[in-house]
Amino acid sequence: MPVTRQLPTPESADLVALTREIAAKELAPRVADAERTGTFPREVFATLGGAGLLTLPYPEEFGGGGQPYEVYLQVLEEIGAVWASVGVGVSVHSLSCFPLFSYGTDGQRARWLPDLLSGERLGAYCLSEAHAGSDPGAMRARAVRDGDSYVLNGAKAWTTHGGEADFYTVMARTSDDGARGISCFHVPAGTPGLEFDRPEDKMGLMGSTTATVRFVDVRVPADHLIGREGQGLPIALAGLDAGRLGIAAVATGLAQGALDTAVAYAKEREAFGKPIIQHQGLAFVLADMAAAIESARATYLSAARLKDAGRPYGREASIAKLVATDNAMKVTTDAVQVLGGAGYTRDFPVERYMREAKVMQIFEGTNQIQRLVIARDLAR
Ligand SMILES: Cc1cc2nc3c(=O)[nH]c(=O)nc-3n(C[C@H](O)[C@H](O)[C@H](O)COP(=O)(O)OP(=O)(O)OC[C@H]3O[C@@H](n4cnc5c(N)ncnc54)[C@H](O)[C@@H]3O)c2cc1C
Repeated sequence: MPVTRQLPTPESADLVALTREIAAKELAPRVADAERTGTFPREVFATLGGAGLLTLPYPEEFGGGGQPYEVYLQVLEEIGAVWASVGVGVSVHSLSCFPLFSYGTDGQRARWLPDLLSGERLGAYCLSEAHAGSDPGAMRARAVRDGDSYVLNGAKAWTTHGGEADFYTVMARTSDDGARGISCFHVPAGTPGLEFDRPEDKMGLMGSTTATVRFVDVRVPADHLIGREGQGLPIALAGLDAGRLGIAAVATGLAQGALDTAVAYAKEREAFGKPIIQHQGLAFVLADMAAAIESARATYLSAARLKDAGRPYGREASIAKLVATDNAMKVTTDAVQVLGGAGYTRDFPVERYMREAKVMQIFEGTNQIQRLVIARDLAR
């Protein structure tokens, strides 16, 4: 059953309806096969881009959709309900554009943003390294100034869209001054010296390519520095505040997808002479799943509305990511239980939802790191 949403404008309601239509026609028929074979669905991103759904939260003057975050996230949730890999891809693309939009000079924005937001381009966000995931301040990748250029060397682990993206937003060390020695760079795909390892063989989210990106004497003009030298980590963390809300929305969507599958099954499947949904013990499991999803949705929307109002929302974004992804893990695990043995097979999508929910608790800051952010804010 479609989620009842309260949307701020008729235009935003149309956008959600359009997303549902595209999800049903273009995503649903492809998802199972692509996830089984590990196929990156570039053509699906082209469809979303063509429909204006790839760049919703950015201003129209640069080619974005000019929508508030509360609308963008609900569109993302609708995508995540059908195909989490694509929802994550849209969220990562949005994250990759954030530094240029928020910290770029007027000249940089005018030069690059319309192309990045054209709907035809896909971005990647290179922050993590093999030894520096939760603690990005420990990164080692370097960018050394050489005349009118920077030369980048090092390796960025776990890059979503690594090898598939059209541009890479890269954090690299420009000095040894710890967390203050990191800077942010715009690196177009095709720059000589950009290399990609074989994609990771993951538990789930197989339709989303994740690969280590290697920088071997990658030279970019000095004006590809975004923000000031040394400003990279604050830029990266500000981006993650917004990005975490995207993950919260995708996680809520996939939990909703699991609930919808479980309810439909429980109405059909009979045990002890009646549909299993008529057994209170099982119906209460479904009721708890519905309550967990509504709580997650309300939490991410509340944080999004703070962001839309221009108010601080970092703590609320971490709470939303924590609540939505932990709830998604519980809901999807319960969905497998509702389907009994059938839930443990690939005949139904709930086992996939369960594998996808797990990674939502890990990336864009593990849920331990979200607790750290929340606790630090409380202690301030
Ligand atoms: C599918 C996928 C896609 C990804 N995409 C991207 C991407 O596009 N770009 C990018 O930059 N990164 C990406 N990542 C990386 C992701 O953000 C990191 O995996 C994540 O931040 C955790 O880092 P780590 O794996 O190094 O774990 P570690 O930092 O080694 O953590 C291991 C464990 O220790 C815990 N821990 C660490 N420090 C603390 C602490 N202080 N207190 C309590 N517990 C702690 C963690 O919670 C975790 O449980 C992706 C990861 C995956 C799996």
